Amino acid sequence: MYLAISTTRPNATILGFLLGKHPARFQSRELSFGKAHVFYPQAEEGRCTVVLLLEIDAVALSRSRNNAYSDAFQLGQYVNDRPYAASSFLSTAIAKTFGSALNGTCKENPELVEEPFPLEVTIAALSASGGEAMARNFFEPLGYAVDLEGQLLDEQFPDWGESPYFKLQLRHVLPVSTLLRHLYVLIPALDNNKHYYISQDEVEKLLAKGRHWLPGHPAVELITRRFLKHRKSLAEMALERLNIVEEQEEPTAARQPEEALEEKISLHQLRHQTVVGELKAAGAQSVLDLGCGSGKLLRLLLQDGQFSRITGLDISYRSLEIAKRRLNWETMSPRMRERLQLLHGALTYRDRRIEGHDAAVAVEVIEHLDEPRLHAFERAIFEYARPHTVILTTPNAEYNVLFETLSAGTFRHSDHRFEWTRGQFREWGEGVAARQGYQVRFAPVGPEDEQYGAPSQMAIFSK
Ligand code: SAH
Repeated sequence: MYLAISTTRPNATILGFLLGKHPARFQSRELSFGKAHVFYPQAEEGRCTVVLLLEIDAVALSRSRNNAYSDAFQLGQYVNDRPYAASSFLSTAIAKTFGSALNGTCKENPELVEEPFPLEVTIAALSASGGEAMARNFFEPLGYAVDLEGQLLDEQFPDWGESPYFKLQLRHVLPVSTLLRHLYVLIPALDNNKHYYISQDEVEKLLAKGRHWLPGHPAVELITRRFLKHRKSLAEMALERLNIVEEQEEPTAARQPEEALEEKISLHQLRHQTVVGELKAAGAQSVLDLGCGSGKLLRLLLQDGQFSRITGLDISYRSLEIAKRRLNWETMSPRMRERLQLLHGALTYRDRRIEGHDAAVAVEVIEHLDEPRLHAFERAIFEYARPHTVILTTPNAEYNVLFETLSAGTFRHSDHRFEWTRGQFREWGEGVAARQGYQVRFAPVGPEDEQYGAPSQMAIFSK
């Protein structure tokens, strides 16, 4: 079993630091199912390649309690593809040999952890249940350039046809830890088998390695089910935890201006009302609510006859179910129901179902996306869906010091991946507008503090 990772980053041998494996040394390690060898066939300034070679002990394997082949055919336990085909053994070996890189730590050069490297990956024999199409379905949405070379079952007997194995080559520019996490999850999911009994621990492993990218993957369900060996209860638990972003209460402000107290409306309601005001001013009739959650904004939109077509989209299936219930979908009048559509989908992929709307809004959503995925969001919305108006709101990080219950340096919500200052939001928004041919203006949302601004901020893009 063979995995090679190359980088062409200048000062390429720095890969050794990141992996915690010195390029000049050949290192081996005993694992329960054989040996893992790590070495560098090439370690030069302009290109560095590390190889992880697994030597699987087929005899030890046949004796193990969890031998998946013991019931197959008599020789099956000795003669099978496990020593050669990339499988969950490779994931285990990645975790054992490149553990710190996989977990995103690097003592010597911590700044390297987040740095995107130009990377090329070769896996000699990828076992792909579902074939080439499935391998592409798994890797391409993550931005990889994928090359697959089929292999004959036996070169001497071409009539026997293709084997289920491929030589896989991947190219992408991304942090090494992200690559390792993708491989850790996707290889066994493609193989659709596991060399050990799986339990709740496996859900934790999947969440730890997949939390940042799996929820937005179009094949999240299949990958999760396969990774968890089709154990229904585990898969369901994992899917729920991957997809669900519980909407939490906002922390309360220590110094709230009087009018906000008097009006007694929550900041969140205020955001929704402000957004509706902007949509009306823009004359939008068809509106897309991106990351609609449990449907609070959808309810407001439905109450206003100007909005004749309303589409809510969320990655969390459970939130959509809640939205349906709260909006009384089942008992809604047919006329009302016709105006509303709920879609299960991700904001970071092109989705033709969201094309053709006058306006799109995303209220307190972008901060739930990983910063490196913002570019994918930008393209999916501004380049492909391309509504006339786009309204985004996000917390203003400067205001956080005024929240009594929020300790310094923490975010308002455990799932927030970042919180921006007004300057940061403006810089990003202006970049998007310039790249995508929109105008943009910014407005505060909520009571403004002289020094720190308002608790939330809004950008209104139009073209
Ligand atoms: N807009 C709603 C909910 C905000 S919470 C409101 O104003 O109340 C953020 C929402 O974004 C959650 O419902 C979460 O499931 C959704 N979300 C997070 N990442 C997403 C993604 N990549 N694609 C689609 N929805 C996403």
